[in-house]
Amino acid sequence: MLIVMSHNAVQSDIDNVIKSVTEMGFTAAPIPGSERTAIGVLGNKGYVDDTNIRDLPGVQQAIHVSKPYKLVSRDFHPENTIVDVAGVKIGEGQRAVVVAGPCAVESEEQILKTARFVKQAGADLLRGGAFKPRTGPHTFQGLREEGLVLLAKAREATGLPIVTEVMSPDNVALVADYADLLQVGARNMQNFDLLRELGKIRKPVLLKRGMSATIEEFLAAAEYILSEGNDQVILCERGIRTFETATRNTLDLAMVPLVKELTHLPIMVDPSHATGKRSLVIPMSKAALVAGAHGVLVEVHPEPEKALSDGPQSLTFPGFDALMADLDRLKSCLASGNA
Ligand code: PEP
Ligand code: MN
Repeated sequence: MLIVMSHNAVQSDIDNVIKSVTEMGFTAAPIPGSERTAIGVLGNKGYVDDTNIRDLPGVQQAIHVSKPYKLVSRDFHPENTIVDVAGVKIGEGQRAVVVAGPCAVESEEQILKTARFVKQAGADLLRGGAFKPRTGPHTFQGLREEGLVLLAKAREATGLPIVTEVMSPDNVALVADYADLLQVGARNMQNFDLLRELGKIRKPVLLKRGMSATIEEFLAAAEYILSEGNDQVILCERGIRTFETATRNTLDLAMVPLVKELTHLPIMVDPSHATGKRSLVIPMSKAALVAGAHGVLVEVHPEPEKALSDGPQSLTFPGFDALMADLDRLKSCLASGNA
């Protein structure tokens, strides 16, 4: 349930509602807004009887929310959340960001070379997997902690904040020691213990949509992180499984404006994993920004043909330059309303 206070409610009215909610055995989560305060009621298993609440002074209305997510929803939190990744602000009204880098950190030379290149081309954040969630166990699984150390070196060399995946709750503290933004991959979107652990840290999280997850399941997964106290969550659409096999996944771009209606959290798009094809990454990056995404995440490799993972979808350095030039032009058109 969401209790919406009237715009002239005073602090003692708010305190009074919080007290009543607490006495009913639930947790009250006040959500201050520029116009009015709302108070989320958490911890209920079913319908909450609002008779003791709705007539209290300053209460405008009680809204019963039947969705499996609350803190994530716009009903609870109408204002857009802006996520701050080591000084890079991501969300509505901010410049769209570009996260770029290899699928996996493979060597010091590879990650430094890529970091320097994407930095000078204008990327905002550096990505690179150290813990890789591979489909089978006989392929490259990532350099693990050594990969994190190399990412930190690349950050030192370029100033780019780093994004990397964490696969297990046991590794959250380790990855959080290095990363500026912790990624949850599609395969772990419903690793609920991992999500809860990420809710307890004070670093932002990039949550990718599971390959067969509905939008409701996706937002419910984000709710696990927020419900533990971490509201710095960025959602990422990376394509879903459909009957179509011509592309690696099917990029669900309609979800971008829809998710912006349903939640206050920022939404990014990963056209590399969504399409699996280098030639589609530039057009789908542009489409993502036109659809309203707050940024794109793309794979870039100095020699994609030698990449240990995801070479066919990785942009070359000239390809990344072309992407950045196109996005710059597009951003000016969007800013002037001409797109
Ligand atoms: C990745 O970003 O390298 C990755 C494994 O992505 P996803 O979880 O979307 O497949
Ligand atoms: Mn990849």
